[in-house]
Amino acid sequence: MRIVITGVAGFIGSHLAELLLGQGHEVVGYDNFITGSKRNLEGVPAAAKFQLIEQDVCEPVDLDGAVDRIYHLASPASPNAYAAHRVATMKVNSQGTANLLDLATAKGARFLLASTSEIYGEPELPTQREDYWGNVNPIGLRSVYEEAKRFAEALCMAYHRERGTDTRIVRMFNTYGPRMGLGDGRVLSTFILQALKGEPISVYGDGTQARSFCHVSDALSGMIAAIEGDFHEPINLGSPQETTMVALAREIIAQVPGANSKVNFQPAPAYDPRFRRPDISRARQILGWSPKISLKEGLPSVVEYYRQLADK
Ligand code: NAD
Ligand code: UDP
Repeated sequence: MRIVITGVAGFIGSHLAELLLGQGHEVVGYDNFITGSKRNLEGVPAAAKFQLIEQDVCEPVDLDGAVDRIYHLASPASPNAYAAHRVATMKVNSQGTANLLDLATAKGARFLLASTSEIYGEPELPTQREDYWGNVNPIGLRSVYEEAKRFAEALCMAYHRERGTDTRIVRMFNTYGPRMGLGDGRVLSTFILQALKGEPISVYGDGTQARSFCHVSDALSGMIAAIEGDFHEPINLGSPQETTMVALAREIIAQVPGANSKVNFQPAPAYDPRFRRPDISRARQILGWSPKISLKEGLPSVVEYYRQLADK
């Protein structure tokens, strides 16, 4: 197949490109490098059928030839990144998404939106199912991302219902793995880098807030199952195994060889959701998908990735 990936130079996009190229597909990747990096594409074999187009997808996306699948991942994704690029985050999820939906419609391609658990905002329920509509402050500090992704989901459904576009929506919960942006402030990469340097681990608030972390390889198999499936409404993709930030800090200290960092509690950021845990019954039933790699099993490869980067 000929597959378009937007955000191909990012953390998840670069892993997706490698996987699909390894399966023999042709990949056309778009990226404007606002948060991505060429280093993430170093693993793409020279002989692979890969074309990189350096472009902001908010500009019209014209591509000659057939397209079978479009994975739309382009968007700043970490709280630090979207705080640094507020308008760009809103534009890529609105105008950018419209451009890719137009391409999907014109080519008759299947389209997958990488949406997010952030559309649930500060959830009132400990476990979030797809039929929960969320609790979002439209002008809060996270709204540039939360509302932009909510708009992107609405736009997908509008194209699907009105123009027959073959859309899919996955709501991804915290995903981790090698190549998470260096210094983008995400908790897992921040804690690992601190532990490697022997610095105190910066736990915000009292550290009882919880997240569930899904290994990138599990996330990719869920995304592929979704686009190859036939379901058009949102599907949660994430790990139902919840961890508090204090427990995460301890696990990382235990997994980083020689680490003797102490936990350093710091003020909680505004609008920090207390918990985020997916109900994945829909993914299990419709896609036959559930994550296979526990946090304990998945962490060593990430620690090793950052250790090697620190050595460079
Ligand atoms: P990332 O920042 O590593 O990758 C995003 C990529 O998109 C970057 O390479 C960036 O340069 C590119 N990009 C941004 N705006 C663009 C534009 N206008 N034109 C072209 N390229 C543009 O982030 P990631 O963690 O790989 O996330 C990828 C997608 O998955 C995002 O849409 C994000 O919302 C979604 N997601 C990620 C997570 C997670 O935990 N990482 C969780 C939920 C959803
Ligand atoms: N967090 C933390 N210390 C850090 C960075 C983040 O305790 O140095 C906490 C943050 O307050 C939040 C959780 O870790 O409760 C996850 O934060 P992240 O930015 O990784 O993702 P998100 O909030 O989008 O789930």
